[in-house]
Amino acid sequence: MEKCEVCFRHCELREGQVGACRARVNREGRIRPVYYGELSSVALDPIEKKPLARFHPGSVILSVGSLGCNLRCLFCQNHEIAQPDSKGSFSIPTEHLSPEELVDLALRCRPRGNIGIAYTYNEPLVGYEYVRDTAKPAHEKGLRNVLVTNGTASLQVLAEIAPYIDAMNIDLKGFTDRYYREILQGDRRMVMEFIREAVQGCHVELTTLIVPRENDSEAEMRELSGWVAGIRHVHGGKQGKEIPLHISRFFPRHRMTDRGPTDVRKIYRLAEVAREQLDYVYTGNC
Ligand code: SF4
Repeated sequence: MEKCEVCFRHCELREGQVGACRARVNREGRIRPVYYGELSSVALDPIEKKPLARFHPGSVILSVGSLGCNLRCLFCQNHEIAQPDSKGSFSIPTEHLSPEELVDLALRCRPRGNIGIAYTYNEPLVGYEYVRDTAKPAHEKGLRNVLVTNGTASLQVLAEIAPYIDAMNIDLKGFTDRYYREILQGDRRMVMEFIREAVQGCHVELTTLIVPRENDSEAEMRELSGWVAGIRHVHGGKQGKEIPLHISRFFPRHRMTDRGPTDVRKIYRLAEVAREQLDYVYTGNC
C-alpha cells in the first residue's frame, strides 16, 4: 500500500489501484499521475474567462485541461472530463502533448495575443507534475502561467508549483463545512489553508458559485468575505480586502437539476454584501 498525499482524501492504494480522483495510481510502489500530458481540451480563451479580472485584462491565454478531479460537485459543469462514469472511466478522447510541445504551441500562439498557459477545466493539481514540468520551461521562455483550481491540495504540492505560477483563480465554493462535505465531497479547511498560502506568492482571485438554498445567504457571504478581507501577507504588499472575488450564478447541471438558475437579483445583492468588506467584487454568468 502507498498513500497519496496530494489531497485531503489521503487515498491508500494497492499496486495498480487508482485513487478517488481517477488521476493517480500506485504503479511499481510509487504514486504517479495517470494522465501526464494527456489533454482533453485545448483552447485560446480570454483571460476574463478563467476568471481573472485584474491580471493582464484584455489578453488571451492558451488553456488546457486533462482528466480527473478530487471533488464530486453535484452541479459540475465539466463532469465529462472531471468525474468518471459509472464504470470509473472517462469516454473523452485525449491528445498527448509533452511539456516542451505545449510550451512550443503557446509560443506559436503569441502573435494571436497569447500571454501564456492556463491549467484549467478539470482539477489540474491531481496531475500537478505536468503543471510543474510545463510551467518551469514556459517561464523560462517568458510565458505566464495561470492555475485554475479548487484549492484542495496540500501545501507541499503548492510549494512545488508556486515558483512558476503567476496567477491563480481558486474556488472558495462556500463557507460551511456541511456544504463542502455534502454537496462537493470536499474539505473547506484545506481550501482555506491553500488560499492563505497561495496569496503570499502570486496574484490570486477567488470564485464562489451561488447555489440556491445551499450557500446563498447574506450571512454566509458576509462571513466568507470577512475571512478573505482578514487575510494577511498578500503578494505585492496588498491587503486581504484587495483580493478579487467573483460571485457567479448557478445553472442546473449534472446531478443537480432539482432547482432553477440562481436569481440574478440574488447575485447582485450578495455582491453588495461582499463589497462591504472587499474592494473588487465581480458578478459572473448573469
Ligand atoms: S489526489 Fe487523488 S489519489 Fe491523491 S489523495 Fe486525492 S483523490 Fe486520492
